[in-house]
Amino acid sequence: MSTSSATSGDATSKGRIKIVHIYPREMSIYGDLGNTRCLASRLRWHGYEPVIHQHHPGNDFPTDAHLVLGGGGQDSGQARVEDDLAHNADVLRSLAADGAPMLMICGMYQLFGNAFITVEGERLPGIAILDVTTQGNAKRMVGPVVLETAFGDVVGYENHSGSTKLGPGQQPFGRVKSGMGNNGTDGTEGAVTGNVFGSYLHGPVLPANPALADALIKLAVERALGEPFVLGRIDDELADRARTRQIHRLVG
Ligand code: GLN
Repeated sequence: MSTSSATSGDATSKGRIKIVHIYPREMSIYGDLGNTRCLASRLRWHGYEPVIHQHHPGNDFPTDAHLVLGGGGQDSGQARVEDDLAHNADVLRSLAADGAPMLMICGMYQLFGNAFITVEGERLPGIAILDVTTQGNAKRMVGPVVLETAFGDVVGYENHSGSTKLGPGQQPFGRVKSGMGNNGTDGTEGAVTGNVFGSYLHGPVLPANPALADALIKLAVERALGEPFVLGRIDDELADRARTRQIHRLVG
């Protein structure tokens, strides 16, 4: 079953933007559903009308998605969504190739890569939108993170067994200033291909990093509506203070 929820047809809205959250039941055990709620709120504050669609296994993925979000989960949750992800891979690849912005966190980041091999040796194939490959480890990488990214310093929290390696030419999402990132050795975190972003950062990451949230919204609005994204007035002082505090605490 898929479910959609829209605000009332607001005649004053600048336009309707469809956010699709993929596997919110199986892959959001680290609170990444907060990213979807953050984008819906920020869209409203900017004067747009969000439509939230939840994609559950067993359904065709909506081809009219304007923004796609996926979160983290246990190895078992990743295994439960494998078949549906494979069934919908072509639609997701087509949306990605057409420039639809996507943010995949941790377990869904791993499955948007080539494969995730669990610590027990089970190989979970990915849909290869990102050229990354992940190997599970007995020791988890857990803790607060600060990254240097194209959106400024980005903060969050990581909790993963997977050690991710970037393929040749694959761009990272950011450089680690504090924390482990993709694998704790090469200083990279996440991956970006086109408008598809993969990252290990929970938090949820978007409320803590408004510039990243608005960058995704801008990409979605301009692709969906074919017109420039017009910012509304949002007071991000609390988020900015919290992010600055984490940066000073971890990086100095
Ligand atoms: N199960 C995967 C791992 O342990 C993903 C974890 C997550 O989504 N936080 O690496």
